[in-house]
Amino acid sequence: MAFSIKKAAVIGSGVMGSGIAAHLANVGIPVLLLDIVPKELTKEEIAKGLSLKDKAVRNRMTSSALAGLLKQKPAPLTHKDRLSYISVGNLEDDLEKLSEVDWIIEVVVENLHVKKKVFEMVDKYRKDGSIVSSNTSGISVNAMVEGRSEDFQENFLGTHFFNPPRYLKLLEIIPTEKTNPQVLEFMKQFSEDILGKGVVIAKDTPNFIANRIGTYGLLVTVREMLKGGFSIGEVDSITGTLIGRPKSATFRTLDVVGLDTFIHVANNVYEQIDGEEKQVFEVPEFMKKMNEKEWLGSKSGQGFYLKK
Ligand code: NAD
Repeated sequence: MAFSIKKAAVIGSGVMGSGIAAHLANVGIPVLLLDIVPKELTKEEIAKGLSLKDKAVRNRMTSSALAGLLKQKPAPLTHKDRLSYISVGNLEDDLEKLSEVDWIIEVVVENLHVKKKVFEMVDKYRKDGSIVSSNTSGISVNAMVEGRSEDFQENFLGTHFFNPPRYLKLLEIIPTEKTNPQVLEFMKQFSEDILGKGVVIAKDTPNFIANRIGTYGLLVTVREMLKGGFSIGEVDSITGTLIGRPKSATFRTLDVVGLDTFIHVANNVYEQIDGEEKQVFEVPEFMKKMNEKEWLGSKSGQGFYLKK
């Protein structure tokens, strides 16, 4: 069977969805960027104050707001003419458009239940033979396809981009037990030749490879900081520029990733392993409190650092 990707859809327009859409636009693939866009504010919402995250989605999902992709640093788009490759929409209104695309990438919140609901909808509206993938950081891809049609299952895999997608070369591709080997081979070649990625085929284990190691290292660093009484700035210096690593070391990375997403990703492992290693993946209390207050990092304006 001959595969080709001429048009794509990205579901979820957050930190990663917008970056992946921009990367596709950069290589000349038209992309439909969809999200659940909060509708008109209800009186209750006004009274209690709309969540920062909802506000961010609403602000983002207009064509003119997409121009923000050019202003971000580092910029996700290579040139302003690339903006014309991205169109935005509300998932609930635009489901039928999913039948027009060759690749649908799910980039919604790191939660199996939410992702499965999205795939149930996608299964109804996609065209047979189109490729579907998840950008999950480490949820089981085999669990995601349970209950889906045979055609969906054969054409599904994990495609885990790293943040920011324009700049980080690694792409983990994770097949399920049902993925057609030809789909896997095609996506590997396509990702290397067209998307310019360095592909690693990973097994379906909690957090796959890079995040299993990365989350572990980051949480060990946080525990050492708490034990030693270091400041956020000291830890970023010691784990960053002072040892020749980028400025965006420990806490700056967390601000870029989003603390809510990081907590989900740490929990992916915490909930699935036992033994000594388990304790490392337990998220410290102060991070859980920050998450409750929506001090999530760049996406909410306040994290370990204030957004400039
Ligand atoms: P995010 O919170 O920035 O964005 C998630 C988006 O999904 C939001 O805009 C939200 O409105 C939308 N959404 C939620 N439920 C939806 C639904 N049912 N239908 C449509 N849209 C919905 O999250 P993110 O950081 O972009 O992460 C998205 C995925 O990418 C997660 O699986 C995460 O683990 C993975 N990932 C994140 C990073 C990172 O650095 N943040 C890196 C690699 C992979």
